Amino acid sequence: MSETKVSTNEDFIRPPVVTVMGHVDHGKTSILDAIRHTNVQSKEYGGITQHIGAYQIVHNLHKITFIDTPGHAAFMKMRARGGRAADIVVLVVAADEGVKPQTKEAIYHARAANTSIIVALNKIDLPGADPQKVKQELAQENILVEDWGGDILCIEVSAKSGKNLDKLLDAILAVAEISNLKANPTGELEAVIIESKLDRKRGTVVSCIVKNGTLKVGDKVVASGYEAVVRSLMDDKGIILKEAPPSTPVEVLGFKETPNVGDLLVEKGSELEQLAVDESRVEIVGKNTKKMVGIIIRADSQGTLEAVKESLANLVTSSVGQSYSLKFLRCSTGDITDSDVMLASSANGVIVGFSVKLSSEIEDFAEEFKVQVKTYKTIYELIDDTKDLLEGTATEAEAKIKGRARVIKIFKLSSGDLIAGSKVIAGALKVESRISIYDKDPNDLTKEDIPLYTGIIRKLKKGKDEVKMVGKDNECGVLLKPQYNEIAEGMWIESR
Ligand code: GDP
Repeated sequence: MSETKVSTNEDFIRPPVVTVMGHVDHGKTSILDAIRHTNVQSKEYGGITQHIGAYQIVHNLHKITFIDTPGHAAFMKMRARGGRAADIVVLVVAADEGVKPQTKEAIYHARAANTSIIVALNKIDLPGADPQKVKQELAQENILVEDWGGDILCIEVSAKSGKNLDKLLDAILAVAEISNLKANPTGELEAVIIESKLDRKRGTVVSCIVKNGTLKVGDKVVASGYEAVVRSLMDDKGIILKEAPPSTPVEVLGFKETPNVGDLLVEKGSELEQLAVDESRVEIVGKNTKKMVGIIIRADSQGTLEAVKESLANLVTSSVGQSYSLKFLRCSTGDITDSDVMLASSANGVIVGFSVKLSSEIEDFAEEFKVQVKTYKTIYELIDDTKDLLEGTATEAEAKIKGRARVIKIFKLSSGDLIAGSKVIAGALKVESRISIYDKDPNDLTKEDIPLYTGIIRKLKKGKDEVKMVGKDNECGVLLKPQYNEIAEGMWIESR
């Protein structure tokens, strides 16, 4: 039965949606479990808790929604697709371990999404807990908690004993209050998908959090371009609802296909529909589905965007490019953003920019996520290069194909490093891949042949540019680690 009757036209304060992030093993799951458990016990919901990707509790008469699939991957996917499901990030840092790589990553994501941060210093029960030290480490990341003169709330908790979890909830409500989170229950429906899966018994099961409007049984909705009529709604306590007001996490039945996590779910025919469709529209050009290459295009104007897209599509249908298909993951105007990088990373795609900016920050970010990004000023340059880029990527995507290259000329750098000028004969060479060097074509090897050297490709150069990968028929400079001083013209490089 529905508990909420909505009859107002006014914006109302909606409950905060909270996500928990932090380094592995610092206690994210334990905190989420402890909060839910305490609440379920004290409130006698009667229902059996259901995993629908998020749950809602009541603290001091106020509701709080927690996304309970912690981890950066989910958060990234949501951000990559533009859905901002969470209002507040609880940054969990183990008090005995302090700031770790994923703590920094979480801080980065929270900042980039413009989400409020609350620090939960967990495992305060451990003898090795050193809150002061952790706060200092946080300050180095520009997370200034109150005793460091900042305004970020920091609560010392123990998921194990339950200590101060109520204070953490108080802090969440305090931050929610100043954030002035509003929504209109009678406004346009806008929900963010947090889970989407195919269940053998129940068909497609989609979980979402309503951000605005009210989702009702019988509504005609759209997500990721897929339409559905809402057949049933269930909350995290297993209660069947007729409608779900803002900030309610709810499981939706009625979709035939599985929409993407992070995409918006909106009402069919509403003004937001275009947004829901555009975000997820994936266009595929070319027929060769074996070598599918995902691509994100950024251009300075709609006109150039269309031109770039068309030229790339032509490339695929022309004779040169027939070996692969293009999947346009996102085509959009404006500078390259970190959300492009995340989308490319999750979809194994590449990013090309035309007359747009690529900040050094985004460039570093792309490198970290191993995403290829290039920007261009002329369309010819773009087409030429994209061809190489795609061939390299397509080759890589095809299978764990071996790359073979012939050493043509050796150069010595002032640093003493040797560069093996080589031509790729088959497959592709990739930075960081393991290679072996032979004095004959690896295709003609017999059982007795052993490599002259094995190592890793440290750097690849194409002209003056450092590149991540070089495809077939291209020449490049190869730097190895460890250095191989005997490398000589005529040798063969085989990559795995
Ligand atoms: P996650 O990877 O961040 O989700 O971390 P988990 O919640 O799985 O916790 C990792 C480990 O730390 C588990 O063995 C937990 O039992 C333990 N743990 C979590 N919170 C606490 C705490 O407050 N105190 C202590 N002593 N151990 C904790």
